Amino acid sequence: MFDNLSLKLDRAFKTLKGTGKITEINVASTVKEIRRALIDADVNYKVAKEVTDTIREQALGRDVLIAVSPGQLLIKITQEELTKLMGGSKADINLKGDPAVVLISGLQGSGKTTFSGKFASMLKKQGKQVLLVACDIYRPAAIDQLKVLGEQIGVEVYAEPENKNAIEIANNAIAYAKKTGKKTVIVDTAGRLAVDDVMMKEIEALKKALNPSETLFVVDSMTGQDAVNTAKTFDERLNFDGVVLTKLDGDSRGGAAISIRHVVNKPIKFISTGEKMENIDVFHPDRMAQRILG
Ligand code: GDP
Repeated sequence: MFDNLSLKLDRAFKTLKGTGKITEINVASTVKEIRRALIDADVNYKVAKEVTDTIREQALGRDVLIAVSPGQLLIKITQEELTKLMGGSKADINLKGDPAVVLISGLQGSGKTTFSGKFASMLKKQGKQVLLVACDIYRPAAIDQLKVLGEQIGVEVYAEPENKNAIEIANNAIAYAKKTGKKTVIVDTAGRLAVDDVMMKEIEALKKALNPSETLFVVDSMTGQDAVNTAKTFDERLNFDGVVLTKLDGDSRGGAAISIRHVVNKPIKFISTGEKMENIDVFHPDRMAQRILG
C-alpha cells in the first residue's frame, strides 16, 4: 500500500548519502522531497507541511556528534514524527457495560458489515460472548450479508427484517443479549453513498438512544483525501471514538492513515487489509511508520 511513498522517501533520504553532516541546505532539499512524497500519497497538504517543518527543526537541532549518518538521522526523525502524527501509541477500545455496545458508522460500501464480522470474530477468539445486530433498515441484502458472516464465524446475528425502526431493533437486541448472556453487542448500521442529513440524524439518534461504550467510524482508505473529509464531517455530528481504516490492501496510497488522526483528532483503532475475516489488525502507529519507511 505504501510502495510508492516508501520508494519516494527512500529516494529523498538517499540525497543525503555521501554528505558528512547535516546542513541547512541539504536538510532543506531532503525535507522538500519528503513533503512532496507525502502530498503525492494523498496526505493533506497542511499536515504534510507541518510534519516536514518539524522534521527539519528536529534535524537541525540534533547533536551532530552522534554516530549516525545524516541520512540515517533523517530516517529516524521522520519515523518518530510520523509515529507521533498517527497518534503515538495504540489506542484502546472501551468495552465497558453489560452488555458493552459498539456502534459501527460510515458510508455505504466503506466496509462496515465486513468489519463488524471481523471484529466479532476477533472478540470471539478472545473468549468473549458476542452478538451482532443488523440495523440496516434499508437494504435487506445487508441483513443477509451479516447473517452469512455470522454463520461463518460462529457468532449469533440478531435481526428483525420487518421492523423499520433501527432504535427499536437495537434496543430489542440489547435486551436479547442480556437474556442470553452476551457481553458485547456490535451494531451494524445503514450507510449511504454520500454524507446526507437523513443518515446523520439517524445515526445520531441511534447513538443517543444506545449510549455505546465505543462508536467506530469505518472509512475506505482508497478514497484518499475524501476519507479525511468524511471523517471530519461524521465526527462533527457523531463525536465518534475511533476510526477503522479499510481496504489498505488495495490501491490506496495510504495518505488517510497518516492524516486522519491529526485532522480529526481521533485515533485509528483498526485497519482492514482484505475481505477475509482474519484481515483485521489493531492499529499501531509505530509499526505503521516503520512500514511506510520500508
Ligand atoms: P458496508 O456497505 O459499509 O457494510 O460495506 P461492506 O462491508 O459490504 O463492504 C463493501 C465491499 O468492500 C465488499 O465487497 C467487501 O468485501 C469489501 N471490503 C471490505 N473491507 C475490505 C478490505 O479491507 N479490503 C478489500 N479489498 N475489500 C474490502
